[in-house]
Amino acid sequence: MNERCILCSRCIRFCDEIIGESILGFTDRGSYSTLGVFPGKQLTSNYSLNTVDLCPVGALTSTDFRFKMRVWFLKETPSIDTESSVGCNTVVGSREGVIHRITPRRNDAVNDTWMPDSGRMLYKQVDSEDRLTEYRLDGKVCGADDALAAAQELLQSGSVAIVGSGRLSVEEQYLLRRIAGRLSGSVPVYLVARTADGDGMLISADRNPNVRGALVTGLIDSLPQATLPELAQAIDAGTVKTILTVGEDLTVAGISVEQLRKVAVINIHTHHSDTAQYSKVDMPLLTVFEKSGSFINQQFRVQKFAQAVPGPKGTLFGLSTFTRLYRVLTGEELCEPSADAVWHLMVNDIEEFKGLSFRGIPETGHLIDGKRFADLPFVEGKSLHYEPAAVATAQA
Ligand code: SF4
Repeated sequence: MNERCILCSRCIRFCDEIIGESILGFTDRGSYSTLGVFPGKQLTSNYSLNTVDLCPVGALTSTDFRFKMRVWFLKETPSIDTESSVGCNTVVGSREGVIHRITPRRNDAVNDTWMPDSGRMLYKQVDSEDRLTEYRLDGKVCGADDALAAAQELLQSGSVAIVGSGRLSVEEQYLLRRIAGRLSGSVPVYLVARTADGDGMLISADRNPNVRGALVTGLIDSLPQATLPELAQAIDAGTVKTILTVGEDLTVAGISVEQLRKVAVINIHTHHSDTAQYSKVDMPLLTVFEKSGSFINQQFRVQKFAQAVPGPKGTLFGLSTFTRLYRVLTGEELCEPSADAVWHLMVNDIEEFKGLSFRGIPETGHLIDGKRFADLPFVEGKSLHYEPAAVATAQA
């Protein structure tokens, strides 16, 4: 490292000024000067890897990426960090369908040029061993058409509840709402909250990237809870007999195994979960790296992400799972399974999206008017470039 270092001190200043802790410094004088870590200190901050990005000579490297791939071979795809509602802008570096690294993408209104280290590792979910890559009916591998037909039969038998996710894209949430609207009877739709302390920087207390998308698209009309006691009661009372769950593990949301055994579950998920052990139908869901779409962050900023790598072999591409489910349920073609096509529908349906198009959303996002939701008690506190309305009002 020190044979390359030109002693520019950018990494030192980053720790002092951005992380807020003096961790790195120079020792010795003149040609003997070297960069080192202060005694008793370690570079353990969740923002440490930003020093790799800002080092002008490549003296600092990431253990995860070091010597794995020449950077000029990487295809760069704009994406979004899905760790929280901050929605850091990122670049996904991939080659021949394999992701090798994630780095920050400049957006002065959201994340400047930084991102958390934890968000850089999210690409590992793509090839993780527990990826759900097959369509299954009663635990046996089947084709996508068979899984969709079974889902149709269950959803049309009535007494349905839907569990969506704050991790789904705006487009997926909208299509899920349209699917719910075509089922008979009143279909309750739930979302599962994920909250933890924010770090005041680029990870907020809302660990879902797109709760606001679910609100704006009309999938839900109030903030989600971490567990689903109403759904549990409805299962016990026998008023819900089929659950369509998309991107959530019901056992984590407070639904017991005994309750899962009482209902038919249609499980659409990126990864295996405990719910999949008790589901009637399983269908794979694409990760954020395998599809194009948008999220709405804590500022009500619509931000696009693009497909970096193909989905698992044999899985339906783009938004096909949702558009084909709509088609088998209604016999009608809603739209092409692309973000562009869904936005054509949404701009005529959703007040906040009027005049927009998917292609027209700038790379740094587009702020929409969130005043329709101003009274909701969002959980986020102050972070870089975001101030909750309550704090802003108190300081005014
Ligand atoms: S940023 Fe790189 S070149 Fe500059 S002081 Fe740090 S290690 Fe050395």
